[in-house]
Amino acid sequence: MDNRYFELFNAQQKHQYSVGNTSYNQRIEKLNALQRAIQYTYKQAIRDAMYADFKKPEIETDLTEIYLVVREIKHAKANLRHWLKRQKVPTPLALLGTSSYYKYEPKGVCLIISPWNYPLNLTFSPLVSAIAAGNTVIIKPSELTPNTSKVMATIINDLFDEYEIALIEGDVETSQELLKLPFNHIFFTGSSAVGKIVMAAASKHLTSVTLELGGKSPTIIDETANIKKAIDSLVWGKHLNNGQTCIAPDYVLIHNSKKDEFMKAYKEKVIYYYSKDASASASYSRIVNDRHFNRLTDYIEDAKQHGAKIELGGNYDATDNFIEPTVISYLNEDTKLANEEVFGPILPLKTFDEIDEVIQYINSKEKPLALYIYSQNQKTIDKIINTTRAGGTCINTNALQGSNHDLPFGGSNGSGIGKTHGFFGFQDFSNHRAVLKRHTFGPLNLLLPPYTKFKQKLADLTIKWF
Ligand code: NAD
Repeated sequence: MDNRYFELFNAQQKHQYSVGNTSYNQRIEKLNALQRAIQYTYKQAIRDAMYADFKKPEIETDLTEIYLVVREIKHAKANLRHWLKRQKVPTPLALLGTSSYYKYEPKGVCLIISPWNYPLNLTFSPLVSAIAAGNTVIIKPSELTPNTSKVMATIINDLFDEYEIALIEGDVETSQELLKLPFNHIFFTGSSAVGKIVMAAASKHLTSVTLELGGKSPTIIDETANIKKAIDSLVWGKHLNNGQTCIAPDYVLIHNSKKDEFMKAYKEKVIYYYSKDASASASYSRIVNDRHFNRLTDYIEDAKQHGAKIELGGNYDATDNFIEPTVISYLNEDTKLANEEVFGPILPLKTFDEIDEVIQYINSKEKPLALYIYSQNQKTIDKIINTTRAGGTCINTNALQGSNHDLPFGGSNGSGIGKTHGFFGFQDFSNHRAVLKRHTFGPLNLLLPPYTKFKQKLADLTIKWF
């Protein structure tokens, strides 16, 4: 165990009660400070860092990083007073003479481990929930976006004492060292494979976890869908962040009758959004590093070797980690592309004739983080929602479920455990503490030992009537 981490953890453990007892106003002040830093003081530094990390366009940084964190802060500030209130609950007749409530108390010392794909958003959004709930926090951001991690470290050092909130830059080894500590809660965002490692480490201390994981999120386009409208959001959602989005449409299941119209519209929209040469477009970012670039180009070559058809794109340039917007059909079910999360600008396209085929196919896989439906038929929409399982769903659009902070965000089983955003994030960083107070003598006092036949009768009556 690295002594520095141990000492930091101990310092936070010592201060967890003073931090946990901070008032509503003190927590609001912390959230205000974080908001000012992101929205104003460090805004340009954040944009520059993300461009340096993976050529993320400024507008995308503004909308998918800065805006979403600022929105999370505003939502927490608007609701915190209500969240911190005691939640009164009714009293059953058998407990007459008592009253009960529960309150959200901080879990204590928390660990946030974040990924690289939305490095600011996926680090600071859970931090907002942790602060709102009154926790101390150690943050371990991704080593793959070092420029953004550096700016975040500066912000945290600037605003907080390290016994309250600290950010440790480091790689997998750092993460593994931190995971040995007996945190009260771990909030992890990343791949399902690492999620299992995190959960195994957490189990040693019975630490609770929120796991925000990934996977293959299907998009269904039925025969009634308005392709023209669908394409606007689909091409955007697939290429936002260069496809490196946990809730990006991973693959499309399209009704046979719509395939040609879809491909024509998809090609036109790709050119409209990113020009004929996407490598020259300022709206198109890059794959984050060589490892992920090689993984994705290997998917393309593997698909080709298995007889898949390149409907669009398929070219790439290793000198710049650039991959063209690509659509691949006739994909063999044994290929990597058909089985692994894509996480890049490659869209597998699969056709169907009956909606039941689609439902069966989706239910034969891990529960997805997101499932999207493009259809004008409400019966089909309801049928899909009622007979499949997913973390979240958008109808006739995609990826926007993560932008409404009144909605819970997260997967189910293979795509995640627990929820984040707004109240749901606050809840995951809190313990529901139950409190019952006796005020007067009540019926249960009649049932204390020694047990007699008369008391047995009373117990029978209690079961029957109370
Ligand atoms: P990752 O799992 O490789 O890494 C995430 C974090 O875990 C990093 O900080 C990394 O240092 C750490 N880590 C990596 N290997 C580790 C190990 N063996 N032990 C301990 N810690 C380790 O994920 P990534 O590549 O950064 O992000 C991409 C993945 O994250 C995709 O699968 C994507 O779907 C998922 N994701 C999910 C969400 C969500 O909200 N559900 C959001 C974004 C990304």
